[in-house]
Amino acid sequence: MTTIVGHLDLTGKFRPTRRKPPIHWMDLSPTDRVDAVKQAGLPGFRAKQISHQWFASLNADPAQWTDLPAGIRDQVAETWFPTMLDRAGEQTADHGTTIKTAWRAFDGAIIESVIMRYRDRTTICISSEAGCGMACPFCATGQGGLQRNLTASEIVWQVHDAARRLAAGEFKGGPGHINNIVFMGMGEPMANYKQVMAAVRQIHAPNPDGLGIGARGITISTVGMVPRMRQLADEGLPVTLALSLHAPDDQLRDEIVPLNKHFNVDAVLDAAWDYANVTKRRVSIEYILIKDINDQSWRADLLARRLKARGDWGWFHVNLIPLNPTPGSKWTASRPTDERAFVEHLEHAGVPVTVRDTRGSDIDGACGQLAANLDSRASERS
Ligand code: SAH
Repeated sequence: MTTIVGHLDLTGKFRPTRRKPPIHWMDLSPTDRVDAVKQAGLPGFRAKQISHQWFASLNADPAQWTDLPAGIRDQVAETWFPTMLDRAGEQTADHGTTIKTAWRAFDGAIIESVIMRYRDRTTICISSEAGCGMACPFCATGQGGLQRNLTASEIVWQVHDAARRLAAGEFKGGPGHINNIVFMGMGEPMANYKQVMAAVRQIHAPNPDGLGIGARGITISTVGMVPRMRQLADEGLPVTLALSLHAPDDQLRDEIVPLNKHFNVDAVLDAAWDYANVTKRRVSIEYILIKDINDQSWRADLLARRLKARGDWGWFHVNLIPLNPTPGSKWTASRPTDERAFVEHLEHAGVPVTVRDTRGSDIDGACGQLAANLDSRASERS
């Protein structure tokens, strides 16, 4: 029998105590790390050695850290290097160049990340939350609701593990390293701002304090949490911002991006423009093409007008995404002729536009499909 620990709240309702994820070296800032080793009775310089092993050598097994005295390696492993995420499953697609990993956290929450290898670069798409609270009807993750935010170490774990395995040559295509990181897996990164920023700092910090990946290679995607977009602009980190717009008019956007009722098209475009203006980074405007819903040519014209009304100096780039089908959804991708017409109308208006390739759609690793099969997989297991 398991005992559930908790308390009665003011209304007399039983509230179970929520267990917290363990603390990992990746939850500590560089100064916290020095303080922590000193508190554990070790000399401060051990912090740099430990960080060097973890972030620069990408060696994940403290037992092999031979620059530490053998007698303290167990203590270091137990105190600061718990397993944050267990690999629960892995699938590949696109001839082994797309690798989707399902992870199980300490409390059983399942999240996913996807590695995509291209000829000249490797991108990893990571999760910032288990589930998502934004409830966009076309997205598989949005349908399941939010379970919880991830901690910084749970977020960076996904990147660290991929970097380590890439360096070791574990994937098709030979040894490599991560060039781009996109927060386009499960979750709304801006709804978990603090932990996401701690993770970004650590991914960006040069060795040995972090993974040393350039801020320009990091993309944070949001449905448009305006106050957080403004906060991000002031962080002084030139990360790329992606705005999931999906409709140029409030009538439709209210329906397909529920947060639009709080921050409408004008508000999110103003915040996106301000971001570009402050950071001098081009904002990526994400637009899923859904058949007969948002793919009419007049909407392409309206989109172009609304973007260009804010400035015509190349502050944005439109990224069209053919809808990936999700279970139970009545929507499908646009007809090829409508997609072409949409692109042509944007191009005619002078809007820089690309159509995203849909990597991994046969393993549910494409946009919006993460978690699509978790229910069926869970029932297979039990
Ligand atoms: N919550 C953030 C981060 C998740 S990113 C955001 O929405 O921006 C996920 C990206 O994939 C977004 O651009 C999202 O709109 C897109 N997406 C979601 N569901 C999709 C689907 N079914 N087909 C194609 N793209 C989808």
